[in-house]
Amino acid sequence: SGSSQVALRIRPMSSAELAEGARHIAHCVDQQVMVLQDPMEDSNDVLRASRSRQKSYLFDVVFDSTATQETVYHATTQSLVAVVTSGCNATVFTYGPTGCGKTYTMLGTDGELGICARALAELFQTIEDSSSDVEYEVSLSYLEIYNEMIRDLLSPSLGCLQLREDASGHVQVVGLTKVPATNANEVMQLLARGNRQRMQEPTAANCTSSRSHAMLQVTVRQRHQGRELRYSCLCMIDLAGSERAAQTQNRGQRMKEGAHINRSLLALGNCIKALSQQASSKYINYRDSKLTRLLKDSLRGNSHTVMIAHISPASTAFEESRSTLAYAQRAKSIRATVE
Ligand code: ADP
Ligand code: MG
Repeated sequence: SGSSQVALRIRPMSSAELAEGARHIAHCVDQQVMVLQDPMEDSNDVLRASRSRQKSYLFDVVFDSTATQETVYHATTQSLVAVVTSGCNATVFTYGPTGCGKTYTMLGTDGELGICARALAELFQTIEDSSSDVEYEVSLSYLEIYNEMIRDLLSPSLGCLQLREDASGHVQVVGLTKVPATNANEVMQLLARGNRQRMQEPTAANCTSSRSHAMLQVTVRQRHQGRELRYSCLCMIDLAGSERAAQTQNRGQRMKEGAHINRSLLALGNCIKALSQQASSKYINYRDSKLTRLLKDSLRGNSHTVMIAHISPASTAFEESRSTLAYAQRAKSIRATVE
């Protein structure tokens, strides 16, 4: 059967935050609980100070700023590789405000590989080690959802692509490029190329990715001797910056972006939450956004999802951290609050 996991990663304080005198307000208590302090405390007011100026949050796993890329991979994504090679679907998302470490977790750096490269390396290794009566083929596609429009990051010249649902309910992107892949290096190079195509902020080129969802789909086709073909997918998604969702006070283009991002992140949260509940109480509205329509197969039945939410530890990021934690907590199973 399926599963869903919600993790939280707190990145190290940045030099810019230190320079503006930010204090640490986000701390891990144990492997599952963290607390966020409201920085607006008034130390002269004993009564106020003793009131709840901090709130704790429970996750499946929490990582503080000392957690290595390897630790994060092992605790969140590693088990998905076996899920996919066994023929089931798995999805991992990175969620959070811009600048809080989503891309660091997903792609990492040359020296500190992210979950994406690690999962791919392990996937190819598993395939290599598997018995010779199973034939595997891996292919991938890489797309971006921006303002509810789908762009192929491997063939950007294709323009806006459409979704189509076939008679059996499978949702597909019409005309999406699928590239065969045989090793992790090859894939990472392809991703780097695709990333250069992501929607860019007109004024700040380093702000790539903050307003679009980027989705890497790794499709594994397996043929067991004498049996029919089996397809499964490992989907890795770097979500748009969640702060965009709140910025509906913006005007024009920025407001439109915010509204679209808000809609898809809300729909996604609802889907992940529904997945963790009992089947009887479950109504999942995939149709609410392109993101969830596209993930329909990956978000239901015996699929496995992992969401890794990200926050800054800084007092200056309090509001963003609070709303990120609230979202991630909501996506997490209600089971956890009962336990
Ligand atoms: P996002 O994708 O959420 O906008 P990034 O992943 O680009 O954020 O992270 C912003 C900056 O912080 C980058 O320079 C990144 O290398 C750094 N960073 C983020 N998380 C970590 C971490 N856990 N350890 C070290 N550096 C980090
Ligand atoms: Mg990013």
